Amino acid sequence: MTSPAAHPPPKPVTRLAPSPTGALHLGNARTFLINWALARQAGWRILLRIEDLDGPRVKPESVQQSIDLLRWLGIDWDEGPLLQSADLTPYERAMMQLGRRGHIFSCPLTRRQIAEAASAPHDEGDEGGEGDEGDDRHELRFPPELRPARAETGRFEFHPRATNYRFLVPDRPITIDDRFAGTVTRNPGREVGDFVLWTKSRTPAYQLAVVVDDARQGVTDVVRGVDLLPSAARQQLIYEALGLPLPQWWHVPLVLGPDGRRLAKRHGDTRLLIYRETGVPVERIIALIAGWCGINAGPGTGRAALSARDFLEAFQPATLPEQPVTFTEDDHRWLISA
Ligand code: GLU
Repeated sequence: MTSPAAHPPPKPVTRLAPSPTGALHLGNARTFLINWALARQAGWRILLRIEDLDGPRVKPESVQQSIDLLRWLGIDWDEGPLLQSADLTPYERAMMQLGRRGHIFSCPLTRRQIAEAASAPHDEGDEGGEGDEGDDRHELRFPPELRPARAETGRFEFHPRATNYRFLVPDRPITIDDRFAGTVTRNPGREVGDFVLWTKSRTPAYQLAVVVDDARQGVTDVVRGVDLLPSAARQQLIYEALGLPLPQWWHVPLVLGPDGRRLAKRHGDTRLLIYRETGVPVERIIALIAGWCGINAGPGTGRAALSARDFLEAFQPATLPEQPVTFTEDDHRWLISA
């Protein structure tokens, strides 16, 4: 007879979730290496999920490019690539559930109409993580007075091609329990208000898609850039509304440019693709990233080459700097001096 104790507990699951909308840069590479090393050290299962729902910004060739670059770094995974665009029904089902429970409302207003009604533009975070355009896509707070008087409950009808839908965000603090960032409290009701869950081109918004996928794919540990911490608060509201258990969050401090702003195009071309094309050895890139993770490597240390495997062996979550790290002009010169 088999007793329940004979079955080992299921393995934790994490995911690598690149958006193939731009190219992976050094900051993304660092987050992926950290995610991979945490997972491989602790025996978690790794899924590769390609977040390709971002409509016109997704270029077909960049899906393959993201996969190739992860492989070039020496990162591997156990399942995938899973493409979000392959099947929209899980997101539609979640929308129906949220609709029936009174958590969403249809919203025909344009961005312009909302901007006119909003008292002040809001400049907090973005919906795509460490992307190039992040800082430039300002998000507006949805003014509460634009909410419909009554949410659509009971006889909710979902029209995925006809209109946008927003989540009814309560005005209350949300506490995030994060393994890197600690305990953080945010109030999405004050920060963004009723955010978009669905756009009328039959496209689930990032906030919805990420929750639906993490839940259905059994993801227990979410590791990503700390620029997505405000999103974690919004996502917790969606988990709650769908009655789903929360994953463990691990939000990694960012890589900044010399001006203190998040690494992006304005800091020159820090795309992995360009470094690879110019012949920079991947081991040098990993040495630089390792230095940014508290490992003794990178400029000034004499250790100019590290493989992903070396990184995995040396990585210790406790030595990861708590503050953002800065990519300097000297770092760039060091990379290309190989
Ligand atoms: N696809 C997102 C990005 O590339 C990551 C989203 C997430 O990890 O939740 O930034």
